[in-house]
Amino acid sequence: MRIDKFLHQMNIGTRSQVTQLIKKGAVTLNARRVLTGKTQLNPGQDLVKLGEREIQYQVHYYYLLNKPLGVISASTDNHQKTVMDLFNKSDYRSDLFPVGRLDKDTEGLLLITNDGDLAHKLLSPAHHVKKVYEATVTGKLDDQVIEKFAKGITLKDGTELYPAKLEILNYNKLEDTTKVHVQIQEGKYHQVRRMFGAMGEKVVHLQRIQMGTLAIDVGLLPGNYRELSQDEVDDLL
Ligand code: URA
Repeated sequence: MRIDKFLHQMNIGTRSQVTQLIKKGAVTLNARRVLTGKTQLNPGQDLVKLGEREIQYQVHYYYLLNKPLGVISASTDNHQKTVMDLFNKSDYRSDLFPVGRLDKDTEGLLLITNDGDLAHKLLSPAHHVKKVYEATVTGKLDDQVIEKFAKGITLKDGTELYPAKLEILNYNKLEDTTKVHVQIQEGKYHQVRRMFGAMGEKVVHLQRIQMGTLAIDVGLLPGNYRELSQDEVDDLL
């Protein structure tokens, strides 16, 4: 691989910024100054430095984002703020994308990566990856709803769903709402809202708290993100 391409892929800068850095003599390959961007290297084997900083070879990037309300789960949009707009310039890469979608008015755990294979695995219905949501729902839910969810409900449009696990956390008498955890194993459009809609109720607040082996960090405020550890990535794969 050409060293200018490598540096660009490692997010060091645009192609022309990388060329400038090489021209300035700021880049070394195995301790020798690089004179041209055409210089070939073996990514992951050769030692590349920008000044004193070692440039690690990394192909895939994985971030856990606590999606806030009001932003859309897309990579780019001409009109609305997207989850990618929450990234710092130094972490942003144009090949990153959110794994699946949360509604604009849903918050919580969203995995952001450039690993298409992992995304496919997590989203494919065949893999039954569990997603857990915390929801506040109108009305007083009871054991009958738990049973219906456990059997697999049918949405208003006739879509039959896989069994889902519903846990009732508490009932707020003043607001006449119930706080629940609901675990689903597929990811249909507006699924959780439509599930409660099929029960004649409305979701007033929705947050995803888990996806596969990954759970939301309590310390990660809405709008913030962090890179996954290698263990977390290995668990997901
Ligand atoms: N189900 C929904 O209805 N909305 C989401 O954002 C996620 C799951």
